[in-house]
Amino acid sequence: MRRHDVVVVGAGLAGQRAALAALEAKQDVAIVTKLHPLRSHSGAAQGGINAAIGKEDSVDTHIYDTVKGSDYLGDQDAIEFFCTEAGATVIEAEHFGTIFSRAPDGTLARRPFGGAAFPRTIYAADRTGLALLQGLYEQLGTASPTIYEEWDLTSVVVRDGRCQGIVAFDRRRGTFEEIAAKSVVLATGPAGRVYGRTTNAHTCTGDGIAAAYRAGAALKDMEFVQFHPTALLESSILITEGARGEGGILKNANGERFMVRYAPHVQDLASRDVVSRAIVTEVREGRGFPGSYVHLELMHLGKERIESRLQEICDFCRTFAGVDPVVEPIPIMPAQHYMMGGIGTNLRGETNVPGLFAAGEAACVSIHGANRLGGNSLLETLVFGKQAGIAAAKHAGTAPAPEVQQSDVDAEETRVGVMASRTVGEEPQHLRMAMQATMDLKVGVFRRPEELGEALTEIRALKARYDHVRIVDTSKSYNLNLTDALETGNMLDLAETIVAGAIARTESRGAHSRLDFPKRDDATWMRHTLASKGRDGPVLSYAPVAYTRWEPKERVY
Ligand SMILES: Cc1cc2nc3c(=O)[nH]c(=O)nc-3n(C[C@H](O)[C@H](O)[C@H](O)COP(=O)(O)OP(=O)(O)OC[C@H]3O[C@@H](n4cnc5c(N)ncnc54)[C@H](O)[C@@H]3O)c2cc1C
Repeated sequence: MRRHDVVVVGAGLAGQRAALAALEAKQDVAIVTKLHPLRSHSGAAQGGINAAIGKEDSVDTHIYDTVKGSDYLGDQDAIEFFCTEAGATVIEAEHFGTIFSRAPDGTLARRPFGGAAFPRTIYAADRTGLALLQGLYEQLGTASPTIYEEWDLTSVVVRDGRCQGIVAFDRRRGTFEEIAAKSVVLATGPAGRVYGRTTNAHTCTGDGIAAAYRAGAALKDMEFVQFHPTALLESSILITEGARGEGGILKNANGERFMVRYAPHVQDLASRDVVSRAIVTEVREGRGFPGSYVHLELMHLGKERIESRLQEICDFCRTFAGVDPVVEPIPIMPAQHYMMGGIGTNLRGETNVPGLFAAGEAACVSIHGANRLGGNSLLETLVFGKQAGIAAAKHAGTAPAPEVQQSDVDAEETRVGVMASRTVGEEPQHLRMAMQATMDLKVGVFRRPEELGEALTEIRALKARYDHVRIVDTSKSYNLNLTDALETGNMLDLAETIVAGAIARTESRGAHSRLDFPKRDDATWMRHTLASKGRDGPVLSYAPVAYTRWEPKERVY
């Protein structure tokens, strides 16, 4: 049997940073990842990473902006820690070998981002995620962890009230394997593919969040889903907020800079929830272009600036939309982009299950509360990835020897065996597409009570159909039909927690905007939603928000 002190699942920025911290603490560390580490979604991050290192800026302003951006649902103790760590974290990334863009005086260049009082977003052109990932991967290479690559976590083993390891599926050999561990860190990243219209890679299926949920971990604030204002119309490929940071502007079909009406002070650089609602409102009220979209204009910035600061954006627009942003506007609409919710953790990445830790987008500390600010997520992966790695290593130092049993593997083999033995049944891809259509249509930027109710019924019906899911491909090696089936099951569980949380929360806060409850309701709802798996779906409970210095105020941009 495979056995390690610390098993980190996921090799994006959060997973790699956690693994590095645990290796530095002299633990035997393994990384399990379904993708090559450099293929993780972190590598798709474009715009940048936040740290208040400018002379005019301050850590306190970063804290305040994040608290305000979160619509006062972020835990202020966590946000204070997070912003205080930011400067050292970015400098460390630079020392790891990340090549950031430079200002003319040689210091780290910074661009303005939404919801930030000062230019605070440090970047490597529009490929910041890949630059960070490469630097970190080089460091990790020198520390030589065991890497199980193209292995899918399928379940977390909890026995005697503590996490004792995982079961994973080796795609190449087509077998389930057990890996015993004293500590497990889940850093499996986003779950954006619950939606059809998303900026997330096809691999972002929330597997770790779902496995934690099934193993008894509480999920936090799942109803808060971020829609990025500017995704390419048809493909939903992200056009970074950096495009507006560089001076890009939004216009409706009447040629108006409509953001003036929604955020008079900062206009196009208001926070993402505000800009997404503005765009959807413009289109709904008839001021969009035929085909339901608005324009993002960069032309006035000039060819040189557009092509040097936004190289990849130029490529995306030309290749995937047939539009040249140097000479014409870009057709855009909001798309799902980020899950504020995830596996509930504290500042050290600890979950409610002893021995189980989480970090990165799969986790919810919570620092983003009801709405994440651009540039804060890359920072989160590094700050809290490190904390989770330290805590996991410390736990492994004292935990008893873990026990994973053959029955854990047998259970997974039986689960998949049943799917493969069916001669009639449901195709996973049909269930996945139906789920995505429901989420796109009924659990979007604005939420109506009747549509949320319908969405819950539809997701539950899809879950019932999933009980008859069928794998038709009998290949042993790289059976993507099988991984599709497993991922679809994971996402159906998560979709249910998102909708259940959204129905229960009778207020509008951050990215959760209920048409029947348009106001924020601090008296009742200044609290986190916790979703635990019950027999018939999620059981919701609530936890207080941590306060330090910032009294809730109305959010105006
Ligand atoms: C297009 C795009 C652009 C973005 N731009 C920015 C930006 O400019 N600034 C910013 O702050 N944030 C940005 N974000 C958000 C940010 O990039 C992510 O939140 C962050 O990188 C997530 O990192 P992670 O390490 O948690 O997950 P990921 O980088 O997604 O890594 C997840 C890892 O988990 C592994 N994994 C998943 N499931 C399994 C499984 N079942 N078994 C084994 N392994 C598994 C994968 O192989 C992968 O290695 C962007 C996001 C997107 C989608």
